[in-house]
Amino acid sequence: MIVVMKSEATVKETSAVIKKIQVMGYKPHLSSGEQKTIVGMVGNGEKVDPDEFQAMSGVESIVPILVPFKLVSREFKKESTIVALNGTKVGGNELIVMAGPCAVESRDQIMKSAEAVAKAGAKVLRGGAFKPRTSPYSFQGMREEGLKILREAGDQFGLAIVTEVISPDTVDLVASYAHVLQIGARNMQNYSLLEAVGKTTKAVLLKRGLMSTIEEWLMSAEYILSNGNPNVMLCERGIRSFEKYTRNTLDISAVPIVKELSHLPVVVDPSHATGKRNLVGAVSKGAVAAGADGLIIEVHPNPEEAMSDGPQSLYPHQFADLMLEIKNIANAVGRTCG
Ligand code: PEP
Ligand code: MN
Repeated sequence: MIVVMKSEATVKETSAVIKKIQVMGYKPHLSSGEQKTIVGMVGNGEKVDPDEFQAMSGVESIVPILVPFKLVSREFKKESTIVALNGTKVGGNELIVMAGPCAVESRDQIMKSAEAVAKAGAKVLRGGAFKPRTSPYSFQGMREEGLKILREAGDQFGLAIVTEVISPDTVDLVASYAHVLQIGARNMQNYSLLEAVGKTTKAVLLKRGLMSTIEEWLMSAEYILSNGNPNVMLCERGIRSFEKYTRNTLDISAVPIVKELSHLPVVVDPSHATGKRNLVGAVSKGAVAAGADGLIIEVHPNPEEAMSDGPQSLYPHQFADLMLEIKNIANAVGRTCG
């Protein structure tokens, strides 16, 4: 439920509403806009009688939130959230492209990647330093050394950096280098990890789980927001289906559905969605046309030698060509890019 205060409501009247919410055992969530102040009432308790609030002085109206994800919902916040990261903004009119290799493998590989993606117009450099691999025998990442290299490359080429964090005990370490903390698909329902990133103020890229419904995904975002961090971007990266020609199946309709249900920005990952380099371009363009606020694309200076996800990684020249096409699609749907 949301309590909308009258525009002339005093601080004292708003405080009285907050106090009442706390006394009832709920968490108040204050949001002071230019025109109006609204107080959200979040928690799981007895059904509240709206009349109890409607009768209070300074209260204009009561709006029920019917969906289970509260803070994440458009019912709670009408305006789209814009997530700021190192000078770049995701969720506004500009389409943001994040790009780079699957994993940080060496300084040379990252420097070449950063130079190529920055030149083509990407704003954020990706690269995993902690890699959650299906097999324990696969390359697990360069860890802190990888984070250092990634940050150095980002700083050198004017790119923010996004990298995955896989456990609560490494959140502070990863946050000390990264501008965006990525929660991978396999960790979407790792609730202690969600709580840990929720306690930071860093931007978070929350990937959709391999087998997760949109509602489960939004409930995971709710964990982050309810722990105090509003800077969440949602990333659709394909879900499991019976189809074998692609690595996963991109749920393109998730883009407009989530934009309707939630105020959070939506990013699409065409690389993990398809698993195939030749499909990345078409899927990227489709995602932009469907309303995505950003893309995250794997690019490797030498994909045949990549330690992970080579078959889906674009060559730098392919990425540069794709960026020109993406800009045209972005312009066609009223957005800027680059
Ligand atoms: C990644 O982006 O490197 C990754 C592992 O993706 P996902 O979690 O979506 O599989
Ligand atoms: Mn990958």
